[in-house]
Amino acid sequence: MDIGKHLSDNMNRPRCPGLQFNDLASLAAGVKSLVYTSVRGAGDARLLDRLCADLKLKKVDLGNNKNVGNVPITCVLIGRSAKKLEAAKKAYRNVLSLEWGIALDYPECCVRSYIEWNLRRGNEDLIRHIYARSPAGTTFPFWMNNVFNYYSRLIRPEDRLKYAAFSKLNQGMDRESIIPWHPCSYLCAETVKKGKLIYDVMKRYMPLTAASRKTMLSKPIVFWDKFLFAILNGRCRTMDGGFIIAYKGLGGPKSLIGRETEKILSGRKTLRVRRGEITAPAGLRLPGNHIVIPFAHRDIRFPAQHQDFEKARVGGPAGKDNKMLSDNILSYPARGFLQHLAGVERSDTIQLYPTGGGRNLFLPQTPSCPKVTPPEERLKDKG
Ligand SMILES: [Zn+2]
Repeated sequence: MDIGKHLSDNMNRPRCPGLQFNDLASLAAGVKSLVYTSVRGAGDARLLDRLCADLKLKKVDLGNNKNVGNVPITCVLIGRSAKKLEAAKKAYRNVLSLEWGIALDYPECCVRSYIEWNLRRGNEDLIRHIYARSPAGTTFPFWMNNVFNYYSRLIRPEDRLKYAAFSKLNQGMDRESIIPWHPCSYLCAETVKKGKLIYDVMKRYMPLTAASRKTMLSKPIVFWDKFLFAILNGRCRTMDGGFIIAYKGLGGPKSLIGRETEKILSGRKTLRVRRGEITAPAGLRLPGNHIVIPFAHRDIRFPAQHQDFEKARVGGPAGKDNKMLSDNILSYPARGFLQHLAGVERSDTIQLYPTGGGRNLFLPQTPSCPKVTPPEERLKDKG
């Protein structure tokens, strides 16, 4: 059995559209042991059953059939452990509980932060809540970017309408994030680590999709609100406690900002940013209260003790060679899952690290369809 059959750049194969790639990659990375998803109609249900059979996963129906846009949706959990699935089913009674977030294997700090934001029910978007809890003067790794992830973020009545307009404007674009949850901070240690593992699995099994997401997510963003932002088509680097951003025009996805604002920011520019505000060029006047979120194209070099930990944990080349975690694609949890897929019990019987020109046991097939078409509109509503 090959997870590459379900996690690949070939977007034309039949797949259950409710199941996000990042959730599936989280399973393969060992970051998550179960996934909350949804099926629409009998066709989707058959596809999900086939996936579960292929990957030796169990499925639990949450018995919460609802209609989204007049289409019946069934919410389900899929995972390896029947015990964990049952515990998660119980926690599902309150989707705004610590138990539910933890059952989904989200970092506790992030679940607590999300609940705090949600209970406040103010007008502040979750992105500003996260930004306010993030350290200043440093860039954020692209896999932490959740600006286009609207699950569990549409709170106000008008949000749904705006979301429809936003979706129409960006129809056909893959806007899925790398991390399937909202972080507590853009440098949350646990999410930074887990997000990288998810990205590495994506890069391995769906390299074109991973590359396109990296491009989309690694740009600095001028952010006003949920559907009001501008992606600066360029790079951000730290300088004198602030940032310098060199960019050319605006990137996608498009937001609902007005033409005038777009005009101010378009063209080729170099901006200086301090404490989230644009300080140069002096003539650049943007309307309203905005922040600049410095997402960037960077890898994290983990401190030495982390590498020792990795070495002890996997005994692989990543620890030995003092490389970045990104080189250590199949870390222990992933190995556990891949063994599970292969039905291999003994950890020393399969080769997990690509050596020389050799092929890994689980290397994906070469994508037969290099054209990346976006996944269908996601159906899940994480409440
Ligand atoms: Zn966190």
